[in-house]
Amino acid sequence: MWIDVSHLGAEVVERSFRGMVKRCRDFGYDLARTPVEVGPTTHFMMGGIAIDSACHTDLEGLFAAGEDTGGVHGANRLGGNGVAESTVFGGIAGDVMADWVAGRPRLRVSRSAVDAAARRVLAPLGRAQGERVYDLQSRLRGVMWDRVGLIRSGEGLKIALGEIEEIGRRAEEAAVPGGQEYNLAWQDWLNLRNQATAAWLIARSALERAESRGSHHRSDLPTPAPNLYNVYVRAEDKAGPGCGRNRCASADSARPARRPRQPPSRSD
Ligand SMILES: Cc1cc2nc3c(=O)[nH]c(=O)nc-3n(C[C@H](O)[C@H](O)[C@H](O)COP(=O)(O)OP(=O)(O)OC[C@H]3O[C@@H](n4cnc5c(N)ncnc54)[C@H](O)[C@@H]3O)c2cc1C
Repeated sequence: MWIDVSHLGAEVVERSFRGMVKRCRDFGYDLARTPVEVGPTTHFMMGGIAIDSACHTDLEGLFAAGEDTGGVHGANRLGGNGVAESTVFGGIAGDVMADWVAGRPRLRVSRSAVDAAARRVLAPLGRAQGERVYDLQSRLRGVMWDRVGLIRSGEGLKIALGEIEEIGRRAEEAAVPGGQEYNLAWQDWLNLRNQATAAWLIARSALERAESRGSHHRSDLPTPAPNLYNVYVRAEDKAGPGCGRNRCASADSARPARRPRQPPSRSD
């Protein structure tokens, strides 16, 4: 795929897109005068944690803003609105959190839950035998590109979910040599588990969205459904950590929830 903006005139392109012209030149291309090869890539996550207009999540004391959250842009973000979102909602979250925390006693923390979480993340340290984290990460990327990328299908998404779950299971047994100090393999192991969870949530939501809309295109369902709806995925009550266990709690919750839209407003 090639982009050709030479019809704008070299002088206009060089003046208006100085950074891009320079970046292309660094790679041996002349954007102002000749076609430049381009390719699609992941640019933005439209989905994420559900928040209200004051950045509260369903978990008391957990606030979220920016690209970690979903619902601000609908089915496709307009260019330039990503930074605007993180600036606006980041500001709101900061104000609301400061008000929320002032004068409030510390939340009670379950010692046993903290110990269990620590055991889980420390478990692989020193495991010299097993699959390489990077091989599993590369496989995860391949699955997401091939089956959950630009054009999706119900069949492909089901295959992807199976593969993601398998990668998540195998990640639990992957090799993580070394100790806790500056151990990049361990950090990437932690990342891989989170990536597998995020991948599962994306694929599961895409399967649930039985239509094509915005950046979500299903080859088996190429047109938009008549009604707008949001898709929510939540962990089962007894779900443990890791990918593949974050299932919809029931057939009911797997159905897209239809919530009235709220106008953006400050809680105060
Ligand atoms: C290539 C590219 C080009 C883009 N161009 C534009 C554009 O032109 N205009 C526009 O509006 N938007 C653009 N976007 C989107 C925009 O940059 C993002 O939507 C926006 O920056 C998201 O802000 P954020 O604060 O939510 O998240 P981020 O900017 O991703 O910030 C998250 C921060 O959390 C840190 N972090 C992650 N994990 C941990 C952890 N465990 N502990 C501590 N810190 C952690 C990260 O290092 C990062 O600093 C672009 C995105 C990409 C990828």
